[in-house]
Amino acid sequence: MSVLSSVPTQLWLGGKQVPSSSGATFDITNPADGSLLLTIADATPDDGMRALDLAVAAQSDWAATPTRERAEILRTAFDLVKERADDFAELMTLEMGKSLAESKGEVTYGNEFLRWFSEEAVRIGGRFTQAPAGTGRILVTKVPVGPVLAITPWNFPLAMGTRKIGPALAAGNTIIVKPAEDTPLTMLLLGQVFADAGLPEGVMSILPTSDAASVTGPLMQDSRLKKVTFTGSTAVGKTLVRNSADKLLRTSMELGGNAPLIVFDDADIDKAVDGAMLAKMRNGGEACTAANRIHVANAVLDEFTEKLSARIEDLKVGSGLDPDTNIGPLINERQRTVVKTLVDDAVEKGARVRVGGSSIDGPGFFFAPTVLDQVPANARLLKEEIFGPVAAVIGFETEQDGIDAANDTEYGLAAYFFTQDVDRALRVASKLDAGIVGVNRGVVSDAAAPFGGVKESGFGREGGSEGIEEYLETKYVALQ
Ligand code: NAD
Repeated sequence: MSVLSSVPTQLWLGGKQVPSSSGATFDITNPADGSLLLTIADATPDDGMRALDLAVAAQSDWAATPTRERAEILRTAFDLVKERADDFAELMTLEMGKSLAESKGEVTYGNEFLRWFSEEAVRIGGRFTQAPAGTGRILVTKVPVGPVLAITPWNFPLAMGTRKIGPALAAGNTIIVKPAEDTPLTMLLLGQVFADAGLPEGVMSILPTSDAASVTGPLMQDSRLKKVTFTGSTAVGKTLVRNSADKLLRTSMELGGNAPLIVFDDADIDKAVDGAMLAKMRNGGEACTAANRIHVANAVLDEFTEKLSARIEDLKVGSGLDPDTNIGPLINERQRTVVKTLVDDAVEKGARVRVGGSSIDGPGFFFAPTVLDQVPANARLLKEEIFGPVAAVIGFETEQDGIDAANDTEYGLAAYFFTQDVDRALRVASKLDAGIVGVNRGVVSDAAAPFGGVKESGFGREGGSEGIEEYLETKYVALQ
């Protein structure tokens, strides 16, 4: 039986499944063939306010709940997601399109945030010192920031939620989750998990909606909301930061990326190709950490490009449910048009198509895995996030040229490079303007590591011991 029969289709409010206050619904479709998956409740601004009322009412009891109890609920949720890992994976493939193997990988990765923050919950500490002038004592404590609004994207339907829910709950916050309109089903299933794990009513609400701004806008103007944590595009992030000014809401912003991957002349080329395949093609290229710009030392440019092209040509495109599929569909037609426009622009300006280069006809939003080389400096895809299975290869001459090209972007989330020289590794890592640097590896995400960007990729960190700080306020108590 398909997982769809067990997915909740109503809003999660007060620990229960509740229809939209207007009775409105919207359809969730499968990007692999356009078919209808489920029709679900469409939250209204009134539903948003009900969620905030519930969050405010539950906040002080949840904050006062012993950290061990909060931790155990998170740990139970982790165990339940693990038990239902196949359901979560199938559901993500159905609504988002990625291959089943990648969905399974995301369940493991995303679920780890629940376990990691169940462990961090009991380590929330503080500090006690003497004032240097002998005038008294300084007690520093950590308290939850208060009700949190979390807004998440469609590309990692589970992990982008658990990266926020885990630390927010561990720190003692109530939370309202607004999942992406293309992929809300995974989050609705997670709501069932938290209800089963015994999360008290009102501590978490989940509000899928077809009109994000109409629900989140009034919440952000309500002074009872204390924080918004957002993962999504830089454009929407900027709007939310502007809107947060009225109430001086605390914000965390995990925004877009346009990661460079540098292959130096001393790199192990086969390892660099393996790394580039992961960094570029993981999640069909629909990742904020995707290596969109592959800068290769001219001395090894031909060898690297040939090997990468051969590997990308071999990728099998199809429905994510087919076990042979490597690359599923893009999320929707709008996204496919963006990818095609950026590829066409590069080709018109002189880039050469080594592999792919076009949409694939038929139902579903498929785009052929693509390698472009000789990409000119004025191609838009070197500046704009492409979010698709398109690798752009560009040559460079000296180490400094490679670094300069890598840093020539308004984004600053991830950067990768390949070298076998330890001195170079340390030197280059320190010069790259990115929040995350991968050295001789193409995957960097880990629940135990602080994930986040600089420049227009945003601010704040998710994961690691840093991740929980985003949900804690520092309170200083002056003592005699
Ligand atoms: P998006 O910005 O269009 O949407 C993200 C979320 O914001 C969705 O839930 C959407 O409904 C909501 N939203 C859109 N407009 C809104 C508004 N005016 N007010 C309130 N909410 C609004 O992004 P997307 O297309 O869903 O996701 C892709 C983007 O996310 C890419 O730019 C990618 O790089 C980024 N991303 C970043 C990270 C990271 O950790 N830095 C991780 C994954 C994805």
